[in-house]
Amino acid sequence: MDKIRNFSIIAHIDHGKSTLADRMIQLCDMVTDREFKDQLLDSMDIERERGITIKSQTICLPFQAEDGTTYTLNLVDTPGHVDFSYEVSRALSSCEGALLLIDAAQGIEAQTLANLYLAMENNLEIIPVINKIDLPAAEPDKVAAQIEEDLGLDGETIQRCSAKTGQGVRELLNAIVRLLPPPLGDPTKPLEALIFDANYDPYRGTVISVRIVNGTVKTGDQIVFMSNGAEYRVEELGIFRLRREPRQQLAAGEVGYIIAGVKTVSDTRPGDTITHKDRPCPTPLPGFKEVQQVVFSSLYPISTDDYEDLASALEKLKLNDAALTFQKDSSAALGFGFRCGFLGLLHLEVVQERLEREFDISLILTVPTVKYKFYLQNKTVVEVDNPTYFPDPGSIARIEEPYIKATIHIPERYMGVVMTLCMERRGENTKYHYPMPGRIEFTCELPLAEVIYDFYDKLKSITQGYGSFDYELIDYRPSDLVKLDILVNGEQVDALSQLTHRTKARERGLKACERLKEEIPRQMFKIAIQAAIGGNIIARETISALRKDVTAKCYGGDISRKRKLLEKQKEGKKRMKTVGNVDIPQRAFLAVLKSE
Ligand code: GDP
Ligand code: MG
Repeated sequence: MDKIRNFSIIAHIDHGKSTLADRMIQLCDMVTDREFKDQLLDSMDIERERGITIKSQTICLPFQAEDGTTYTLNLVDTPGHVDFSYEVSRALSSCEGALLLIDAAQGIEAQTLANLYLAMENNLEIIPVINKIDLPAAEPDKVAAQIEEDLGLDGETIQRCSAKTGQGVRELLNAIVRLLPPPLGDPTKPLEALIFDANYDPYRGTVISVRIVNGTVKTGDQIVFMSNGAEYRVEELGIFRLRREPRQQLAAGEVGYIIAGVKTVSDTRPGDTITHKDRPCPTPLPGFKEVQQVVFSSLYPISTDDYEDLASALEKLKLNDAALTFQKDSSAALGFGFRCGFLGLLHLEVVQERLEREFDISLILTVPTVKYKFYLQNKTVVEVDNPTYFPDPGSIARIEEPYIKATIHIPERYMGVVMTLCMERRGENTKYHYPMPGRIEFTCELPLAEVIYDFYDKLKSITQGYGSFDYELIDYRPSDLVKLDILVNGEQVDALSQLTHRTKARERGLKACERLKEEIPRQMFKIAIQAAIGGNIIARETISALRKDVTAKCYGGDISRKRKLLEKQKEGKKRMKTVGNVDIPQRAFLAVLKSE
């Protein structure tokens, strides 16, 4: 066990986490140069484009250190966004140490801090690493001073490297061996294995990532998931190399995988403890939470023919995404679709993009909403996360909505703008303190509904990227909620209805009408767009009728241009929904979602 080091790399986005991981893999002779593909660890396209890791991948590196001994370095990868902070914290809790990677030209940024706090909460040993020292704009000495003064970390332990050129990376691996503690744990005790991730393999079912905290697990063992008592038999276990490498057993201190006939990833829960059926550990490992869906939206295929494809695509995504939930839904305007639950708005966007890109299904999403509680006159309580099921207003005694406690880290100079943002979003009970000079930790209680749209983007832009944000659900509080309907030529478009606080309804209604006016193409007749609460119209826009033939401007031009234009229109038509006699493009539905 003293030859093992378990660690994660934590960093602000783009500071070089994936590049460094790849360089380490290459240095440990895991791949030939020909095989070497940049950024081995981030496999999905969307992750690459957005620079975020959604599914983490772990790798076990054999490293011959300067003392001549070969060590096993387990690099546990973590997702990089607030929607996934619980997953990050479970991954970190399977490690003894973390590399805090900082860009030599950028210095400390928002997520550097948020991630540092998560690592500290998990009692990890931290090695600060200054990356990109090859850049002409690099200021490693300045960043080193920041690390010592602002973060209060030991200057002696700071490492400098370039993940790009490989300079300093071998020294960094030696520093990991020298500075991080080996895992503790007793292989003879009852089994305690922490589940920190799960991935779906089409041939083998769920592959569970585990850190063995105590005990030893072998192929053939009867195991139990402590959160739900489910029992399985270990079919195969082993360690993560570039491919999975089977072993006879995994013992305390080790990181590896278990395959045990678990059908879907949803049957495993990150943070859960696995133990033996016949010799269980007395209590599960601390820190387990059930994942909670907090954002709900309905997904409809643009073409009703795609409904079956959408159903099977969701099934497939679900295999690898335990946090996604869905059930059948239908709309008068849009036909059949699915009501889906997500961890947050980023999670929603990722699912939407994967459905469109990987499964080639064009979608319309309804306005995302949270789950409200309706206390009715007849003393019953109903939970509603879909505007369609808004109860008859006469039957409602009161309504409650979920609140979060937001924790925001910012440089002091942004205090004013952040305070204003929180007030605009109905924030209450704001508090702040200085965790270090010049830095503010600001906490505030906010309705979740005010956060799910664009709060994070807003925070980022008003703090020039320096604001970091994290949240937890706290309770439900009374809410003055209304249902805002949109009418196109007098016909209500159910998919555009939204639930909103009364004080925000007019603004939302105006915005929605404006957006629709911009996005709905003019047609042969006049189109009225209205927003209403109950029967009362609160906003209105009109799209005037079209007069000219759209192809007229090509008149006399070459025929291929004309054909192209017609094809483009046909293509556009595919992405339209007809409501009554009005064609509404997909873009218009999406535009209504965007609040800015
Ligand atoms: P991540 O978001 O933390 O995973 O960052 P990536 O590894 O994707 O790197 C972000 C960008 O920085 C990419 O364009 C990398 O090529 C570049 N990069 C990473 N490390 C270095 C480095 O040491 N030097 C230079 N010049 N560029 C780097
Ligand atoms: Mg990355």
